[in-house]
Amino acid sequence: MEKQELAPHVTEISRVLGNKVSEEQIAKELDTYLNLYRVSLETAKRSVVRKLGGDPNALNRGSQKKLSEVSGTEQNVDLLVKVLSANRKEIEQNGEVRTLIYGLMADETGTLPYTAWDADRFQLERGQVLLVRNAYSKEWNGKPQLNLGTRATIEQQPQDAVKLPEGMDVPVYGPSVAKVADLQEGMNSVTITAKVLQVETRKIETQDGPKTVYSGMMADETGRVQFSSWHDFNLKKDEVVRIQGAYVRSWRGIPQLNFGERGLVERVPGHFPADLDLYRSNPRSIDELERVGGAFDVLVLGTVVDIKKGSGLIQRCPQCNRLVQNKLCRLHGKVEGQYDLRIKAVVDDGAGAITAVLNKEITEELVGITLEQAIKEAKEAMDPEVVMEKVEERLLAKPMEVRGNVISDDYGLMMIVSEARLSVPEVRNEAARLLAELEGSQ
Ligand SMILES: [Zn+2]
Repeated sequence: MEKQELAPHVTEISRVLGNKVSEEQIAKELDTYLNLYRVSLETAKRSVVRKLGGDPNALNRGSQKKLSEVSGTEQNVDLLVKVLSANRKEIEQNGEVRTLIYGLMADETGTLPYTAWDADRFQLERGQVLLVRNAYSKEWNGKPQLNLGTRATIEQQPQDAVKLPEGMDVPVYGPSVAKVADLQEGMNSVTITAKVLQVETRKIETQDGPKTVYSGMMADETGRVQFSSWHDFNLKKDEVVRIQGAYVRSWRGIPQLNFGERGLVERVPGHFPADLDLYRSNPRSIDELERVGGAFDVLVLGTVVDIKKGSGLIQRCPQCNRLVQNKLCRLHGKVEGQYDLRIKAVVDDGAGAITAVLNKEITEELVGITLEQAIKEAKEAMDPEVVMEKVEERLLAKPMEVRGNVISDDYGLMMIVSEARLSVPEVRNEAARLLAELEGSQ
């Protein structure tokens, strides 16, 4: 990429860093990521901002406007809005009948009429809070009107992302239809259709005496989720069910589906993806995971942009497993630490970043070194950092595929990795897809 093409990006990074770093240094860093590490421009920008001490989320993602700022001439505008009404209408265009959705959208500055030109792509419903990207506007009867055309996208946002003045808001009505990937802590009266992959019965003690809980795993095409039912709906493995009145509560940071007596469970016929597809983790984008705050067994594809301190050869307290630094455990004081290997890698997919924590077994396989070899090399060099260098050399700036449970803490998203590999094995995915098609066609 030419220098003058990079100039606006350098300026933008400089702004995000509060103009505290010289543009010369920014340009040099950016050049390294682009031309040496060969990552995408988005990932490079985010990495440079992070490296120089800034917040990558402050980078531009298109121009976002308030509804009162929309003039009727925008070609490309992002908006954070609540859908006040959504009406369907059939129109005829070039001899073809298509369905569009029209209605009103609102934010704290006002309301505007909108038209979404494809009812299948934009399944708008009253009460949704959405981040609309790449909409355009036109003037109609002297008033701007929003349009969601072929380039527009919508992303569901939490209800409290838009706070409307009293009187403007709609009461949240009816159950909301969700897919597994949408589930997030605190959701109530969810309607979801999923296949039961596993179910088991457990007896537990509660304040009101012993209770039976039916728990297991369900899936749809967007992912898998663990569930607990507090009422016997006679759920069976391999059934496809529609559940109404479910709610979502997190357990250890991962959203789980719950339903009880007041829920409604119906068996539904119809085609559902083959089990091979349901068990396979679909790749999820990191900004989507940031939005829901945690997820069960997902796949993330990105670039390793940093290896955090405390990776490589470490020592743990034999009593509490905490990290031992300078022979000290935070809880138990001076202890004889036990060696362990682990990696905390920052994986960035261009839209967000996640800290992937890799245990000893995965580290050994990925880096090609055993714990015993690592201890030996560190002792020979009289420096445990030699292992860290090896980890960096092997992983830094490489594309990586990580799979595992995602939780969020004060530092952002963290994945406890169950599987990791460098680069994306296209061939394997393709083979799995073909197999799934065969299975589905039987
Ligand atoms: Zn300890």
